[in-house]
Amino acid sequence: MIEINRPWSRWYKTARWRRLREQLLTEQPLCVMCLRSETVTVATVADHIIPHRGNEHLFWEGELQSLCASCHSRHKQLEENGKTVLTFSADGWPA
Ligand SMILES: [Zn+2]
Repeated sequence: MIEINRPWSRWYKTARWRRLREQLLTEQPLCVMCLRSETVTVATVADHIIPHRGNEHLFWEGELQSLCASCHSRHKQLEENGKTVLTFSADGWPA
C-alpha cells in the first residue's frame, strides 16, 4: 500500500509516526469499528479520524483511532468512493 507521489507517504516512515502508532495501539489495542458491532478484533492500523489529505497539522495533531486491516480498507474505500465522480458500465461508458 505504498502511495507514490503523495508527499505524506514518507511521514508514515518516520520514527515520530511509529511512536504515535505504537502509543495508540498500546492504549487502544482493539479495533474501534469492530467493537461498535460487538466484535473483538486486534487493531493493527492507526487511522486518522479526520482524513489529513496531506495536511501536516492534521497528520501529526489529528485524532487517531485503532482499526483492524479490514475495517481500515473499508473505511478508506468509502472515502475513495466519495471522491469518485464517474463509474463505468460494462461497455466502458460512464454510467
Ligand atoms: Zn475492525
